[in-house]
Amino acid sequence: MDGMYPSLQAPAARAAAVPEPQPAAPAPTVPESQPADGTALATSVVEHLLQVAVSPRFKDETPPEALRGIKNFEQLLAVIWATRKMAVTLAKGDLEYQTPEKGIIIGTLKAFQSNLKHLTWQTQRIAGGDYSHKVSFLGEFSEAFNYMAAQLAQRISLLKNTSEEYKNLSFRDALTGMYNRKAFMHFAEEIFTTLKPDVSTLVIADIDKFKTFNDVYGHLCGDEVLKLFADYLAHALRPGDICSRYGGEEFLMLLPGMPLSVGLSIGERLRAGVEALRLNYEGKELRITASFGVCETVPTAEGEPFDEFIRACIGRADENLYKAKEGGRNRVVG
Ligand code: GH3
Ligand code: MG
Ligand code: MG
Repeated sequence: MDGMYPSLQAPAARAAAVPEPQPAAPAPTVPESQPADGTALATSVVEHLLQVAVSPRFKDETPPEALRGIKNFEQLLAVIWATRKMAVTLAKGDLEYQTPEKGIIIGTLKAFQSNLKHLTWQTQRIAGGDYSHKVSFLGEFSEAFNYMAAQLAQRISLLKNTSEEYKNLSFRDALTGMYNRKAFMHFAEEIFTTLKPDVSTLVIADIDKFKTFNDVYGHLCGDEVLKLFADYLAHALRPGDICSRYGGEEFLMLLPGMPLSVGLSIGERLRAGVEALRLNYEGKELRITASFGVCETVPTAEGEPFDEFIRACIGRADENLYKAKEGGRNRVVG
């Protein structure tokens, strides 16, 4: 199949990993009544060691009386028992078993155990989002593991990009490309709850007699007015300010750190700038004016829900916008 990992094959028979229990071999026979000659003793030693090395059911760790005291026999026996225990616990997946016994075989098993422990730790790190880990000690498994980690990294980064794109899209107004109400609320909350400026100014702008553009020249003309207006506002403010299309032909701006006096003069600059705009639409030169409602905000009181706070602020700016409309439009009230 395209895109599949090339070395992945059907899993090998697992039965090979852990030997099936075999019937117990007969217990070593040590002639107890007569003194053992050299051959009989050697045979008993070999039989006993063979049991310990190969018989899964053989559990007796104490050697027969006759074999005790043979030079180095008990040390050899201890090494075989320890190696056997280490191998069996590893085969069962227990990575915590420890033994002080040393030797080439048990040392190799300990190294294998520690590699598996490291692999467990690496897997946990990958699960936590760190895809930089590579394995090299397990042949084809290492290749498959590393491929999996690389694929995960690639797909997660793709997902992140996609979700970033969706987030960006969900924060933008489709017609003007400007931030929408949702984005305004998100950024305003971030500013008021983390930056907590001592004072800020909120400005709400509403295009005057906008409906007339739609009614006289059609909705496409209305759309062009909106785009021109939005583009002007977006370029007229500082990068740290937030400007959004709040709805229809209403635009909401937050000027963090600006007191009312500065907010009013910025409002006045915007008003004059809008008044100077010209839209060439189907051979006609159209003029636009807007009214502005301005109000000062203070940081949210401790425990005050942000939604309530911002709704109250927008309400006050909206009252001033209403006064600007009542006062004859194309003006700033704060
Ligand atoms: P005022 O000076 O009192 O603000 O009057 P106005 O005509 O600007 O306000 P009104 O609320 O009466 O009309 C707003 C119009 O904006 C109504 C609505 O159809 C229109 N509108 C809202 N969104 C869009 C849009 O995306 N495109 C277009 N072309 N028109 C829109
Ligand atoms: Mg309106
Ligand atoms: Mg209007």
